[in-house]
Amino acid sequence: MERLKILVTGGAGYIGSHTVRLLLSQGHDVTVVDNLSKGHRHNVPPERLYELDVRETAALAELMRRKQTDAVVHFAAFIAVGESMREPERYFANNVGGSLSLLTAMVETGVKRIVFSSTAAVYGNPYTSPILEDFPIHAVNPYGESKVMTETMLHWFDAIHQVRSVALRYFNASGADPAGDLGEEHEPETHLIPLVFRAISSGQPVTVFGNDYPTPDGTCIRDYIHVNDLAQAHILAVEHLMRGGESDRFNVGTGTGHSVLEVIRAVEEVTGRKVPYTIGERREGDPPSLVAASDKLKNQLGWNPQYPGLGAIVEHAWRFSEKHQFA
Ligand code: UDP
Repeated sequence: MERLKILVTGGAGYIGSHTVRLLLSQGHDVTVVDNLSKGHRHNVPPERLYELDVRETAALAELMRRKQTDAVVHFAAFIAVGESMREPERYFANNVGGSLSLLTAMVETGVKRIVFSSTAAVYGNPYTSPILEDFPIHAVNPYGESKVMTETMLHWFDAIHQVRSVALRYFNASGADPAGDLGEEHEPETHLIPLVFRAISSGQPVTVFGNDYPTPDGTCIRDYIHVNDLAQAHILAVEHLMRGGESDRFNVGTGTGHSVLEVIRAVEEVTGRKVPYTIGERREGDPPSLVAASDKLKNQLGWNPQYPGLGAIVEHAWRFSEKHQFA
């Protein structure tokens, strides 16, 4: 594919920064927009970074005009489910308001292609797994709802303004770039794998949220997807749109689920360390099992995950956290 001019919102965050690195490595011209409220300056080359909030519509439009943007990859959003249950207003303002501002700037400047970070949370508590893209949409928290609402806006911006979009519905993004200098740095951390690492280094047990689910070992099952495979999906989605492809949505998961206890065992194997853990109460809103049907992305966009197992995910994440002493 020719050299594309891509604007990436939230490019200093976890998944955004891995995608920016991959886009740059493929020779694309990348502009990162990030307000650094969650993202990290050190995640992106300084000359690529524009410190801007996506809600600043006029400034975004000016930047897109100046950069002659071909396509947008839109990550910028808040991601914590629990927080969204306490402060829904912030999630709708930032995630929905931010997306509306971005779409408005795109229409103003004639940018007609966008890849959007969506989530498996749009399915809520699905009646069965694996989850297909045409399962009912039914968010069960404001975070998921903010992504549903943005997908809905994308539908209407396509119908009315011919803005073509791909929504990528992520399952459990995890792992780190194998080089060890990019990875997951959330504050506060709520994700399982980094919390398991912290348990190893602090000796304070991680809590397994419930072991009485209707799953083989009683703990919840999730589909853990390596962040670089996720990044690859964004590039394929941009290429699909640049070829004149229609708007669409895809799950991004491996199609294989792992329980919380399996994750703990994988961490013990990779690190050679014992993980202290206790069994606690269920976490509110956790469905027993979320596993993607991932054939659509593979068949239609040619996605071919490089790291489909837990081993590489845990190994790369561990390398990153050891190097940066987050563990
Ligand atoms: N989990 C857990 N203890 C923790 C954090 C997470 O048992 O301290 C479980 C959680 O209930 C879920 C899985 O690990 O089944 C993955 O949770 P995470 O928050 O990483 O991602 P989510 O599935 O919520 O997107």
